Amino acid sequence: MGGLSTDVLVIGGGSTGAGVVRDAAMRGFSTILVERGDLATGTTGRFHGLLHSGGRYVVKDPRSARECMDENRVLRRIAADCVEDTGGFFVTTPWDDPDYADRFVEGCHVAGIPVQEIPAGEALRREPNINPEISRCFVVPDAAIDTWKTVWGCARSAKEDGATILPYHRVLALPTLNGTVTGARVRNERTGEEFAIEAEFVVNASGAWAGQIASMAGCDVHVLPGKGIMIAMNHRLVNTVVNRCEMPADGDIIVPIRTVSVIGTTDVRVTDPDALEITPAEVDQMLDAGERLVPGFREQRALRVWAGARPLYQETADAITDTRDVTRSHTLLNHRTRDGVERFVTITGGKFTTFRLMAKDAIDAVCAELGTDRPCTTDQEALPDSEEGRYYWLGSRLAEREETLHDDQLVCECELIPRRRLEAAIERRQTTDLDDLRRTVRLGMGPCQGGFCIYRATGILHALKQLASDDANRSLLNFLQERWKGVQPILYGDQLRQARLDDWIFQGLLDVEHAPQPDLREHQDLPA
Ligand SMILES: Cc1cc2nc3c(=O)[nH]c(=O)nc-3n(C[C@H](O)[C@H](O)[C@H](O)COP(=O)(O)OP(=O)(O)OC[C@H]3O[C@@H](n4cnc5c(N)ncnc54)[C@H](O)[C@@H]3O)c2cc1C
Repeated sequence: MGGLSTDVLVIGGGSTGAGVVRDAAMRGFSTILVERGDLATGTTGRFHGLLHSGGRYVVKDPRSARECMDENRVLRRIAADCVEDTGGFFVTTPWDDPDYADRFVEGCHVAGIPVQEIPAGEALRREPNINPEISRCFVVPDAAIDTWKTVWGCARSAKEDGATILPYHRVLALPTLNGTVTGARVRNERTGEEFAIEAEFVVNASGAWAGQIASMAGCDVHVLPGKGIMIAMNHRLVNTVVNRCEMPADGDIIVPIRTVSVIGTTDVRVTDPDALEITPAEVDQMLDAGERLVPGFREQRALRVWAGARPLYQETADAITDTRDVTRSHTLLNHRTRDGVERFVTITGGKFTTFRLMAKDAIDAVCAELGTDRPCTTDQEALPDSEEGRYYWLGSRLAEREETLHDDQLVCECELIPRRRLEAAIERRQTTDLDDLRRTVRLGMGPCQGGFCIYRATGILHALKQLASDDANRSLLNFLQERWKGVQPILYGDQLRQARLDDWIFQGLLDVEHAPQPDLREHQDLPA
């Protein structure tokens, strides 16, 4: 690829960057998004899956609470197909300060969050697995949201308006001329090719990495990565988002998302958003926390654990000791007024729930800097597949499957992925990476973690893309290694048995470790 040029270059392909590129394209700017990995492989692909009502923040961070509620309403409207309308409970358990509940209700009223108290008995009737010792329960409009569908929905919408989306393109440098950022030097991480992108304006939407990108233009930006871990359990232990009614703390939310329930999370200040170690103590802490909300939690099967890094912005980082004290609201930095660097803004902090608002603020600033008046319309137009305004529902894949029971093969039993859906995804994404396909159709995300479906998917990929067998082997091995990272820290009980079985299939029968693979050294910094 030779050099490219554009009006607006967006750095970062998480929810914020995807929102920004859509907003810019819809306002008629030519725009390019670059992301060093696949879309939503930073924090956005590693979060809890909760479309916040804002209830969590009503006492501690009322501004963030109101923003969440406003954007919750917008996303339900424009991204309905990505949302499961689970509703949310805030429950007072024996470990929670009973006085907090009244402050919570008052905070909901102030933030404009609809809240209704129901008797504890009614809460237990609706959610029989939750702790029978709860004393109060409040219902709020929390929901579960599919991150990959939302982010790719924004990317598809942006493409329809002429945007170029470049996953696997890493920004290496931001050239400046007379104090103005003029674009970026990027590297295609698949081929190793480096090239320049010239841009009228650059938006830094790189989340917890925003400080690293800003420093390429000589700007000093402090983003504290706040590490949080989450564990997916193999069933829907609850069908409603269940929060503890207390000040935000560790392990106080369970989100039912697709076929699993996710407990989270922690908040620990770390130095590097790329080095997120998960310790056995943290896993134990989450399982104990789950036990308080759903007695018997520890006996359930834990599927997978992962960690993400919150982008927490502070103008002066030194004073912060507890990352929970940093606002969950977002920050827009205009580097012209702040640092004397023109045509460059950073948008960071915030929540997944508020990404559209963050994008609007960023492109409003771009318009102001370029002296053009173009109104934002992202709250009015639905994302692709959400046009009918129908929420996703848990039974939808089963219903589709029943229609094609006799004329389509089932590739992934856990996530009910038929062959035709997988083939369509391979063609649409134009990828030979099984992990990209996992994010696209949830391949291998259920209880067997790819044990039964991934060798079938490799065969289908191999045939459809006419891959060299070495390339197919590499894709399979990469997938297995990625899955192993999430399984290894929680190996106990049934999941340990599953891992042993998977090991027999892949090492014992298929001997994947010794399957021939292409030489990767050409484009990657691998030891000789
Ligand atoms: C544990 C945890 C749980 C959370 N739960 C929730 C929740 O339930 N609900 C909610 O609303 N919010 C939640 N959040 C917050 C939310 O996930 C984040 O605020 C949001 O996803 C941040 O999105 P982003 O696009 O700004 O950052 P990211 O998703 O991190 O995107 C930034 C991107 O920039 C890319 N990048 C970095 N360097 C370069 C480079 N040199 N070149 C090109 N690209 C680069 C990265 O690869 C990354 O993909 C949670 C956060 C954490 C950590």
